Amino acid sequence: MSDYSYEYWQTQAKNIQFKNQSFINGEYRAAQSGATYDVISPASEELLAQVSACDEADVDAAVACARSSFDSGVWANRSPAERKAVVLKLAQLILEHKDELALLETLDMGKPVMDALNVDVMGASAILAWYAEAADKIYDEIAPTGDTALATMTREAIGVVAAIVPWNFPLDIAIWKLGPALVAGNSVIIKPAEQSPHSVLRLAELAIEAGVPKGVFNVVTGYGHVAGKALGLHNDVDVATFTGSTEVGKLFLRYSSESNMKPVWLETGGKSPNIIFADCENLDKAADKAAFGIFFNQGEVCSANSRLLVENSIKDQFVEKMVARAKAVVLGDPLNPETTMGPIVNRKQADRMLSLIEQGKKEGGKLVAGGTNSSINGSSLYVQPTIFDGVNNDMTIAREEIFGPVLSVIGFDTEEEAIAIANDTPYGLAASVWTDSLNRAHRVAKKIKAGTVSVNTVDALSPMTPFGGFKQSGIGRDLSIHAFDKFTQVKTTWIDFS
Ligand code: NAD
Repeated sequence: MSDYSYEYWQTQAKNIQFKNQSFINGEYRAAQSGATYDVISPASEELLAQVSACDEADVDAAVACARSSFDSGVWANRSPAERKAVVLKLAQLILEHKDELALLETLDMGKPVMDALNVDVMGASAILAWYAEAADKIYDEIAPTGDTALATMTREAIGVVAAIVPWNFPLDIAIWKLGPALVAGNSVIIKPAEQSPHSVLRLAELAIEAGVPKGVFNVVTGYGHVAGKALGLHNDVDVATFTGSTEVGKLFLRYSSESNMKPVWLETGGKSPNIIFADCENLDKAADKAAFGIFFNQGEVCSANSRLLVENSIKDQFVEKMVARAKAVVLGDPLNPETTMGPIVNRKQADRMLSLIEQGKKEGGKLVAGGTNSSINGSSLYVQPTIFDGVNNDMTIAREEIFGPVLSVIGFDTEEEAIAIANDTPYGLAASVWTDSLNRAHRVAKKIKAGTVSVNTVDALSPMTPFGGFKQSGIGRDLSIHAFDKFTQVKTTWIDFS
């Protein structure tokens, strides 16, 4: 740990080599049009890199290459144990390049580099290894037909997978899609967010080194409304899996209906409630986790615990603890290992956040921490950890996904009221409940409409458990064995013996 000094990361950052072109058929390729777009450093607001702006022609090339690799059977026809060995090697290569990958993540999107290393990169490797290990441990099914027939239900790879991923966890969310898709035998095209293409572009090269055949894992860079749209509308893409905003998620449903009716899997936004009951004894632990739940990754987390519902009898005391934790956040250069919160990804997101904070003030929220941005190293994208007390669930800050370090504290008196407020949102991705009553924990968890309910913790997340949303937070699940449902289809083979 002590090796990771500020100077170390600054030196590494100076020497880093960016891969700036798409990765198709095992090689980096410029966009056919020659066009590029600028990636701006959130930490300094200076130009970081110029990356290929791919359009329909490049997407066509990537899809043709993925299709031909799939149809050739070069990957799909390998035994599960062989695919396991290659994907395990890729997980190992991620560890061998962990500093470089963490740095690429931080330079692109601004998260503290030690988090990028310890959470994102280590997590990416662990999740990939988990899927690799699953490769030869999943059995197919036989239907209870009796002796006159044998009916098998086998899972087959679906074909060409397009994964359109966001900028908040660029490597991890790519791996959430890539892991099960590759292990199941598919060919994959990843469209990274325009803000954060570099870690996935490097990963594609590592995949070749691990033994993934050329053409099986491709990356197309560029704008969402051009390259992302072209993938969504492509008639030769067999399935689209997307993480990002609810608004764009809905577009993918439209793309599907306007093209080949490809299945569309969505992981979209959230406005997750974190409910603190007065019968929770360890309020300090609850406050530590609540602060993590909203300030980790600058609050740029789809499951961020952005609504803190606190029983009125302990609310003032709890808000005081939260304010102390907001003040303890170290906002600064994400390359400094002391930093616990970095800049917001870009000007558009930061401006949106600051205007929602103003709206919160206007609508009567009581600002008790933060509320503005700081300028650091020439960038003013450093939004302070912000807490509003006295919020009601109808205010804009309690309804809109802010996607930043902005917490709304809402008081309640009864369990029924807490559940009603928690569920009064179009989203249903995650929720947390803090109570020392086992009965209440079960009762409340059951009534909350969310894909994951964490009890006496926040953001419970593991490769072993599915992650995804109820309501407008999405369709389908990432992680766990359930993710294979997205990248395989079930075939019935009925053999008649009568
Ligand atoms: P977005 O939904 O616009 O982008 C996500 C991905 O979709 C990116 O790869 C992008 O290039 C692509 N995309 C964008 N427009 C597209 C289009 N018209 N057709 C096809 N693909 C398209 O998200 P954003 O602009 O990066 O962030 C906006 C908001 O989205 C955030 O404020 C936040 O609320 C939400 N968000 C959610 C998540 C999440 O993990 N659920 C992640 C990032 C952003």
